[in-house]
This record gives sequence, structure tokens and C-alpha cells, in this order.
Amino acid sequence: MTTLAERLAAADAAIAASAARAGRDPRDLTRIVVTKFHPASLVRELSGLGVRDVAENRQQELTAKTAETADLAGLTWHFVGQVQTKKARAVRRAARVVHSVDRERLVDALDRAGEDDAPLDALVQVNLTADPNRGGVDPQGLDALAERIAAADTLRLRGVMAVAPLGEEPARAFDRLAGYAARVRGIEPAATWVSAGMSQDFDEAIACGATHLRIGTAITGPRPPQD
Ligand SMILES: *Cc1c(COP(=O)(O)O)cnc(C)c1O
Repeated sequence: MTTLAERLAAADAAIAASAARAGRDPRDLTRIVVTKFHPASLVRELSGLGVRDVAENRQQELTAKTAETADLAGLTWHFVGQVQTKKARAVRRAARVVHSVDRERLVDALDRAGEDDAPLDALVQVNLTADPNRGGVDPQGLDALAERIAAADTLRLRGVMAVAPLGEEPARAFDRLAGYAARVRGIEPAATWVSAGMSQDFDEAIACGATHLRIGTAITGPRPPQD
């Protein structure tokens, strides 16, 4: 058995090694720990180990965990799951970054939910598969969606996010994502974030230009069964 501290250190060392192989500065990479299905106590432990960026993929769990860890200073919460339009306000209240903006109605709902708070950082999730039921906007709709975010007063377009499809070389899929990221930078030059790479494929993602890695099990260990 390894400890959480050991797994975190091993993941960070592997990320640094991938960055070195890709000729990239590890300081340009943000390692986000995906804590879904784990109790808030894990977030507390991670915070004690110096982790600052954490992510959830379900709104109710996000809302509950942010409340339970509200006393921890300096945590940035990311949301990486499907957002129901009617939950946009709750997601916005709890997360600083939403990686999974996949449709114009959601842009409008997130924008309307903005009050006097800081702008919400938003990434366009792109579907890299041929299956329209997978998360993310079809690449054909990418420009219109990115433009919609860029035009929203209370949102800040930051870049793109994707999950590598099953059954395809991650490097090939992340290569396409790099092209989509360039398209979004053509719309908003400051939108430089590329959220890609999970426990099994962060090496390929870093080689293809990822800036934000979403790592779960490699750091947290296996997830408890979901309810
Ligand atoms: C769960 C999840 C991750 C982390 O996955 P691991 O394979 O456990 O690293 C990353 N991104 C999204 C969108 C997820 O839902």
C-alpha cells in the first residue's frame, strides 16, 4: 500500500518527467486532483499536502464538498462534469472554473447566474469521438460556442477541454485537440488553456500541449463505489 503523499509525489515526478521529454516547463502545467466519490476528508488531506486545484464532476457533490471544506484557504475548485442548465447557478456558486461548457444554452445560463462575483473561467469541452452522446461540442460547433462564451459579460473564455476517446491512440486524439485549441485562440488570444490528460494518458497530453491535467485515481487511489 502506498500513502496519498507518496502517490501525489510519484504523479508529480511523472508529470515533470513527461514535461522534460516534451521540452516543456513543468511550471506551465497545472495538476488538478479529481476527488469525485471520495469524502471531503480526502480534500482536506490533499490540501495539507499542498494541493491547490481540485475537481468534481457532479454538482451535488461539488456543492457539498465545497461547503465542508470552506475553512481551507487557497483551494481552487474546478468542475469537469456535465452541467444541467438548471444547475448552472449552483455550479457557478461553488466552482471557479468550469471545464465542460458544451452548448450555448449553458453559456447563457452560467452568464445569467453571474452576480458581482469574479468572472467565471470557462473552457469549451470538445467531443473527440464520433458519438454525439459523448460529452462535448461537436468540432463543427466549436467556433460558435467559443464566440458565445467570449461575448458573455461574466464569463472568461480560457480554452478547451477534452477526454481521449476509448479505442483510439490518445496522442492522435490530443493532436486534434491541439488544432481546436489553436482555433479558439484565434477567437480569444488569451484562451491558452488546454485541459487534457488523466491518470492513464497525461504523458501523451503533455506532449500535445496540455496545460491543465485532471488526475484522479493515480493520486487518490481507487474510487469508492458510486451511489
Ligand atoms: C474522473 C475524471 C478524471 C480523472 O480520471 P482518472 O482516470 O481517475 O485520472 C478526469 N477528467 C474527467 C472529466 C473525469 O470525470
